[in-house]
Amino acid sequence: MSASKAIAIIGGGAAGFFAAISAAQLARQKGLSVDIRIFESSGQVLKKVRISGGGRCNVTHNCFDVKTFCQNYPRGSRELLSPMLRFQASDTVDWFKDAGVQLVAEADGRMFPDTNSSETIIDCFLNLIEKFHIKLMLKSPVKAIEVVSPGRLKLKMGDKESFTADAVLVATGSTPAGYRLAESLGHTITERAPSLFSFIINDLLISELTGLSFVDASLTLTFPALPGKKVFKQQGPVLITHWGLSGPAILKLSAWAAREMKLADYNGILTVNWMGVEKLNDVEKRLNVMKSENAKSYLKNVYPNILPKRFWLSLLDTCSIDHDKQWSRISKKEIATIAQALVASQLKITGQNRFKDEFVECGGVALPEIDFKTLASKVCPGLYFAGEILDVDGITGGFNFQNAWTTGWTAAQDMVLFNAKTTAT
Ligand SMILES: Cc1cc2nc3c(=O)[nH]c(=O)nc-3n(C[C@H](O)[C@H](O)[C@H](O)COP(=O)(O)OP(=O)(O)OC[C@H]3O[C@@H](n4cnc5c(N)ncnc54)[C@H](O)[C@@H]3O)c2cc1C
Repeated sequence: MSASKAIAIIGGGAAGFFAAISAAQLARQKGLSVDIRIFESSGQVLKKVRISGGGRCNVTHNCFDVKTFCQNYPRGSRELLSPMLRFQASDTVDWFKDAGVQLVAEADGRMFPDTNSSETIIDCFLNLIEKFHIKLMLKSPVKAIEVVSPGRLKLKMGDKESFTADAVLVATGSTPAGYRLAESLGHTITERAPSLFSFIINDLLISELTGLSFVDASLTLTFPALPGKKVFKQQGPVLITHWGLSGPAILKLSAWAAREMKLADYNGILTVNWMGVEKLNDVEKRLNVMKSENAKSYLKNVYPNILPKRFWLSLLDTCSIDHDKQWSRISKKEIATIAQALVASQLKITGQNRFKDEFVECGGVALPEIDFKTLASKVCPGLYFAGEILDVDGITGGFNFQNAWTTGWTAAQDMVLFNAKTTAT
């Protein structure tokens, strides 16, 4: 029997584990001998998996059309098409099912393990690396990678510790150490910026309304201070928090506008249509009907039923209209003022907040330098990338883990099969 091929995986996170296990599964299926090692800088693996989805781990999203799925990546949507055609969300569901983990979808499409615990995913991964004899090297921060010869790379963990591999996968997430490793081998790191955050807004309209939510608000984000007048739009659930606004539609908006938000130093104007998609004219008509049908009622008691009462009262305050007025006494001008505030509240964003949210980093290894059929580097033979280290990020809902699974799995296929050095046992 000739020497087995060595695969080194840097990073014991979602992408690193999925790649290591997928490589071992393929090697076993093909009867190949492969020495697979995961190098993890800390003493603990899968730290983000543990805290993900509020401790429930939103593993993927219940959308099995690859084109539609990829539209949920502000960066990387085009590049991910090819690997997703080979390993997409439905493959993730099957992969976990084969490993004994049932994923279930919620009404909004997010998929979780049926135990509702991220520990199920962690246990699954730890059992599989034991089953396949994958070596887990804890407290092994990779500090440098040297090219021994084309396709053979040496990892350096300290002065004395090193490991030479035939293929190296860098899956270090958004850590600076990983970006430095990529740069040292000739890769470009695109400008980084936080993504998936909520907005800090100090506005009288919402300052006393913490906890109120809107099922379907329409949002328009602009940056008066930036040239180019770029406009970002989003629609969906919005939540009022004690620091401003959060909720799925806000998080999505932050992802699509991540770079502009950073450039504008997190200052911008958010125009909110609290009535969803209703136009100004329609809202005026709705208020006029309300007036004619409820002439004797007070404004504080009769209002559009999609609005929470506390919000309606606060809106009347900001429009300087008395709650105790009867509808019959409200003027045409006041109706126009209320309608305008309902469909186009202008709120000043003064900062960002990442409290408890699923956040990711936008920016990373430049995508033109990667072959997305294999996730191999076009710059350095034998080098691969997977997960958040790439300049790929998704909106909230399981898309970021799916990027880790898809890119990790794809890299694994090529690392095991790509060169003739792989030997049959
Ligand atoms: C609070 C929170 C909740 C989230 N919830 C979800 C969710 O429910 N669904 C979803 O899709 N996404 C979620 N995400 C995003 C998701 O966790 C990440 O996109 C995903 O973990 C990225 O996987 P990765 O393997 O690329 O990186 P990571 O999971 O960050 O793993 C990288 C690993 O590499 C190690 N490392 C770094 N440098 C070195 C080095 N030089 N040598 C050795 N090891 C090194 C790190 O210690 C780490 O263990 C969440 C993120 C956060 C912060």
